[in-house]
Amino acid sequence: MKENLIPYRGQRYTCRMCGECCHCRTVPLSRDDMQRIGRLQEDADFTEYNLVLRTPVISRREWDLGCIFLDDRRCRIHQYKPLICRLFPYAMLFKPLDDEDEVAKHTLPDGTGIYLYIDSSCPGVDHEQIEDMPGWLLPLAQRIRIELALTRFYYDDTGK
Ligand code: SF4
Ligand code: SF4
Repeated sequence: MKENLIPYRGQRYTCRMCGECCHCRTVPLSRDDMQRIGRLQEDADFTEYNLVLRTPVISRREWDLGCIFLDDRRCRIHQYKPLICRLFPYAMLFKPLDDEDEVAKHTLPDGTGIYLYIDSSCPGVDHEQIEDMPGWLLPLAQRIRIELALTRFYYDDTGK
């Protein structure tokens, strides 16, 4: 399914366990993600470096066949899955996709300004039901911001 980000304004979301979000997605990994999954995978190589994102990403068999950890519609590493997978179908950007997207503007607990979107291609998103933002969303977004920034710093610094 093709990503379709729209501004987050409290749309309710309930996962239908369809597994569609594990196809056609690039999954950036923080160093913590890799250590966590690496322990589970007994050091099997499951990453490749992405020059655009400047982080490792999960290797793929083929683009539309999905993530190497996808087993039918289930994530084989569910308990250890990358932070960015935990965030889905929400997405955090540092610039708005459109000048009109002020509704998506939020502030992380550390004061960083972000824009929150939701991927409307996810069948679990209910556009009619609007509710308060889940309490875990901004803390998770902040953790992702920090972990990926540290990961980029590490790879830039070591030239890996
Ligand atoms: S696409 Fe949405 S509903 Fe389907 S598994 Fe992913 S998060 Fe759940
Ligand atoms: S790690 Fe799991 S949740 Fe994330 S894309 Fe792969 S199969 Fe899906």
